[in-house]
Amino acid sequence: MLIFYRKFLTMKIAEALKKVRERIYNTAVRSGRDPQEIRLVAVTKTIDMEGISEAINAGVTILGENRVQEAQKKVISYELRVMGSKVEWHLIGHLQRNKAKYAVRLFDLIHTIDSVALAEEVNKQAQKIGKVQRVLIEVKLSSEEAKHGVTEKDLIQLVESIKGLDNLKLEGLMTMPPFFVESENTRPYFKRLRELRDRINELQIMSYELRELSMGMSHDFEIAIEEGATMVRIGTAIFGQRR
Ligand SMILES: *Cc1c(COP(=O)(O)O)cnc(C)c1O
Repeated sequence: MLIFYRKFLTMKIAEALKKVRERIYNTAVRSGRDPQEIRLVAVTKTIDMEGISEAINAGVTILGENRVQEAQKKVISYELRVMGSKVEWHLIGHLQRNKAKYAVRLFDLIHTIDSVALAEEVNKQAQKIGKVQRVLIEVKLSSEEAKHGVTEKDLIQLVESIKGLDNLKLEGLMTMPPFFVESENTRPYFKRLRELRDRINELQIMSYELRELSMGMSHDFEIAIEEGATMVRIGTAIFGQRR
């Protein structure tokens, strides 16, 4: 019974993944973009190591977690299993300053830097272990109270602060629009994030161009790709509805 179930799960994840990849590919081509520019971050929050292993076996190379503690257990478990393929772990959820120490040890890319204080703490912890931590800035583009992220008004100042921190490598921006039943309503947020990245590049604040736009989830990733996403963060469309 268990074996039957495992086989079923494997097929389900592999098939779902294939469909998601096809949609990414088709959307990229349709909007005149190189499909290679778009990376899939498989969002594995609440998914156990069995499901994660299936996704890795089916070719997933980037895993997105939204909580440090949950990720910690999984990274250890992953390493214990000594899985052949190397995967990247990304933090896509809010980071508290007192967890920065653990985050720099776990994550290849942190998508959610949203204040100077957090940037400084991550830099300090990265310096301690001799790492240059790749980061994105999370931008809050709506006025919802609960959402994390730096406001547009404070964005440039945050970029300038990060520029002065030697153990951070800023690669781009991330956003999470409010939820809309009609996914088309997310488009202005994705467009705005692209404009902000381009603006930072025009101002030449950094000595190199920021490339990454982490935007788009299961219900709106095609729109995000049309608007320039370079990383889409997809959970439900691969693993099914979370409990
Ligand atoms: C959960 C989560 C996702 C994935 O959402 P799905 O709708 O399951 O694809 C993407 N980004 C962040 C920040 C998340 O917390």
